[in-house]
This record gives sequence, structure tokens and C-alpha cells, in this order.
Amino acid sequence: MDKTVQRYSRQRACILQVLEGTTSHPTANWVYDQVRKEIPNISLGTVYRNLSKLCSDGMALKLDVGDGTERYDAYTTPHYHLYCKDCGSVSDIHTGYAAQLDEVAAKENHCRIDFHNLIFCGVCSQCTTNLEK
Ligand SMILES: [Zn+2]
Ligand SMILES: [Zn+2]
Repeated sequence: MDKTVQRYSRQRACILQVLEGTTSHPTANWVYDQVRKEIPNISLGTVYRNLSKLCSDGMALKLDVGDGTERYDAYTTPHYHLYCKDCGSVSDIHTGYAAQLDEVAAKENHCRIDFHNLIFCGVCSQCTTNLEK
């Protein structure tokens, strides 16, 4: 392995580690701030590139929650998300994955469905608790 490959691997490993260490579905900017603690001279562009690579390699997911930011998730098993309209957080929703929906959609539309994404919009448990106080 040459030096360049090694350097990129280290950056990628660090980025993945940061992503795996959070359930907050962070933006690339947040990941960049964390990774800079380990690799101070890394650029935001490099973080973006590595995040894209992790996604295309199936090691991370990119989420579009509709607020104009891209969020990343190291938990790659298909699952659903809640976008909180109050605080803008993205959290995992534990409902189980509706595989039958893929089957019905594929059958009705004569196509192949690999998976589906679902983003619930509402108010997260944290904000709901604050409202009750
Ligand atoms: Zn919230
Ligand atoms: Zn998630």
C-alpha cells in the first residue's frame, strides 16, 4: 500500500469512527469538526468525499430530510427516521421495516424495489417532554 492510499484510509477510518459514535445523524460539517480533533489539517472537501465514498461502499447512508442539509448515518440496516420540526434533529424510529410495502410496490408497478426510505415529520421525544413542562 503506498503512502497516499494509507493516508486516505486513515482519514476514512476516522470519519467512519466518528459517524459510528453518534446517533444524531450529523451533517458533514459536524463530522468535519469532530474529525479535525484527530486530523487537524483535513479539509471539509476531503470529509465530503470520504462520506460519499462510505455511502457508495454501503458503509453509511445519506439522508435528505427536506431541510436542505444532508445527514449521515452509519447504521445501514433499513430503518425509518423522524425529523423534528422544532429542533431540526433527526432520530431513528423503531417500527420495524415494512418489507411487504416493497413487495406490493414492485408487483403493482412491475419494477424491482431494493428498499424504501421513510421520514416522519413531527416533534421529537425531547421537544415533546419540554412542551409538557
Ligand atoms: Zn426536537
Ligand atoms: Zn438512522
